[in-house]
Amino acid sequence: MSPDVDPSTKIALDAPITQLAGVGSQIGARFAYLGLRTVGDLLNHLPIRYEIEVAEAAVTEAKEATELAEASVTRTVRGEIQKVRHVPSRRPRIEAILADESGTIRLVWFNAPWLMKRIHPGQLGIAKGRAKVRGGYLEMVNPLWEPVSEDDQVPVRAGRLRPIYSATEELATARIEKVLTAVLQPALESIVDLIRPEIIAQRGLVSLRDAYRMVHAPKDAFEAERGRTRLAYDELLCLQLAMAMRRWQVRYSMSAPALVLTAAIEQKILARIPFVLTDAQRQVCKEISDDLAKTIPMNRLLQGDVGSGKTAVAVHAMLNAIAHGHQAVLLAPTEILAEQHLRTVEEMLKGSRVRIAGMTGSLRTADRAIVVNGLASGDFDMAIGTHALLGEEIRFKSLAIAIIDEQHRFGVEQRAALRAKGATPQQVPHTLVMTATPIPRTLALSFFGDLEVSSLRGLLPGRTAPTTRVMPTLRALEVYAWLKTRIERGEQAFVVVPAIQESEMGLKDVASHAKSLAEGPLHGCRIGQLHGQMKSAECDQVMDDFRAGKIDVLVATIIIEVGVDIPNATVMVIEHAERFGLAQLHQLRGRVGRGGKPGYCVLIGDPPSDIAQGRFDTIANSTDGFEIAEMDLKLRGPGEFFGARQSGLPPLQVADLTRDFLLLTDAKSDAQAWIGTSGDLTESCDLALRRRVLGLYGAALGLSDIG
Ligand code: ADP
Ligand code: MG
Repeated sequence: MSPDVDPSTKIALDAPITQLAGVGSQIGARFAYLGLRTVGDLLNHLPIRYEIEVAEAAVTEAKEATELAEASVTRTVRGEIQKVRHVPSRRPRIEAILADESGTIRLVWFNAPWLMKRIHPGQLGIAKGRAKVRGGYLEMVNPLWEPVSEDDQVPVRAGRLRPIYSATEELATARIEKVLTAVLQPALESIVDLIRPEIIAQRGLVSLRDAYRMVHAPKDAFEAERGRTRLAYDELLCLQLAMAMRRWQVRYSMSAPALVLTAAIEQKILARIPFVLTDAQRQVCKEISDDLAKTIPMNRLLQGDVGSGKTAVAVHAMLNAIAHGHQAVLLAPTEILAEQHLRTVEEMLKGSRVRIAGMTGSLRTADRAIVVNGLASGDFDMAIGTHALLGEEIRFKSLAIAIIDEQHRFGVEQRAALRAKGATPQQVPHTLVMTATPIPRTLALSFFGDLEVSSLRGLLPGRTAPTTRVMPTLRALEVYAWLKTRIERGEQAFVVVPAIQESEMGLKDVASHAKSLAEGPLHGCRIGQLHGQMKSAECDQVMDDFRAGKIDVLVATIIIEVGVDIPNATVMVIEHAERFGLAQLHQLRGRVGRGGKPGYCVLIGDPPSDIAQGRFDTIANSTDGFEIAEMDLKLRGPGEFFGARQSGLPPLQVADLTRDFLLLTDAKSDAQAWIGTSGDLTESCDLALRRRVLGLYGAALGLSDIG
């Protein structure tokens, strides 16, 4: 094959890269290392950035120009490395001599010992950096060095935007560019746009072919961005189509038991709850019971601050299912929290006919068998436990509602596992996901296109938010001296540190900090320790002791973040507070002051930047989790809310939720309109797109491939 491919020919997108001119099996393996096997892979290997190409100069020319120039000027020279040496002085450096036909230049790098392995005599490449003449010799300090083999030469055009690809030592970005440039035209010929042209026109986007050309070979920065925007739109649209398809499938191909809340049932439920529900709680219970009354499976997110009373709402919904002769399950992210829920609910239902099964990983085998059998036979009405309840072997006789507490620990996969626990594949439970780390509403709605959202705002009657103070590390001893006075009044405290074990980063860890408190400012207090690497029996013991008042101060990692309820705990001290997210800090402080006595939260830390200071100010001045979430959104951007861990979805490759938020909104409404007309993307013109969407998100979202 000739290296210059006739632009009128086509290359199939699934053609292997090794078929291309100049790419043998050896180079092919280097591409494969980057996950690039086909022409299509190559097209989708988008530049990570662009550089404006600077005209190259011959070394002597560069020297003369530099001598004449007043200030140092960025220059680009190309040549062969002649010598490399490491100079071990007070400021160790690497020096290399680069030569072209006209002369030589010295390249100097400080603090770059790794370069020794990457640069060697005989190597060809381009050095770019600020040049100056020192002692009559032309020199560049810390230039960019890019090795370029004879084969990789891409002609330089000054002012051109040069795409920079993620590359490896064996496969330079210039080589990738060269191979791509050669194949670009014929590959573009094979591109089929799967999105309807009306939508593309209406959104003012460029065609898919143009988009790929613009990202790989942009005429200017504006083109590069237009190309990227189109590709980002496609990615977001596929995601939103997947969400809309799921919503559609759930609505039209699956059903859940209709649980109509009659006045009689409602009355019985309310009699079991040991307090009067607040207006906010009643409102949310109503939103939920309206959903439950339908055969369309509920998929609702309940957001509410720590201590806003979400458990009662959960119990309300579960008892509704049980009153209809079905089963309910409540899932907690940790054993501690599962045990706590179990205790709370058992207490509420004492003397009733509701049979509750507790299920955690630490259950003994015999007890586990009783639970497993009882859920399958219907002997248990309710199960409360950890993800152990999602195990393959757990079957329910008739599960009508599943409630997941603290959503951020559960991914989409777990939700799919839950759906599989319905009586038949078409019969699924209603699901309610509860979280104390609210996602700003606009974001939640636009991203999770398939969720309804309820919010419990405000504190319960008689509750006050903990008073929050920020203290610099230097004044930590004062904080602990004050803490001791609270202990002496019979109150209890949490001290949260970031590390489990001693680390080189100088972060406080549980054991050493507990020890230094015991020997220092908290001498005489009973100090316990808790972290995620302890056995669960040990954790339980410590929590029991703390609850029973046998421990005054619990030094812990953020394992206590979720849900733990110790009414007598009034103080929360957080060390290295700058290392925690705002939502985490807010969650943590919600652990104290829950028993009627006022709570205090002291953040010890030294904010390293203005943003960090802003975060501290926010948390000290606001008590509303929703407001804090909005602030976090402003300070850190929406990307933070959608880590892969949080959403359970494959990460986005092109789109960036901070930058492309409006595009996301557009994609969402386009996807909804589209699904609205074609149901499930099963119209013949949509089949290719459907395959793509299912390929990308089918598994993660549990989309079934049924018509
Ligand atoms: P969270 O939203 O953090 O899960 P909980 O459901 O644990 O909050 O409620 C916090 C505490 O407030 C619990 O001790 C609960 O019994 C109590 N509580 C909940 N709702 C009310 C109410 N309407 N009136 C009085 N106390 C309530
Ligand atoms: Mg809770």
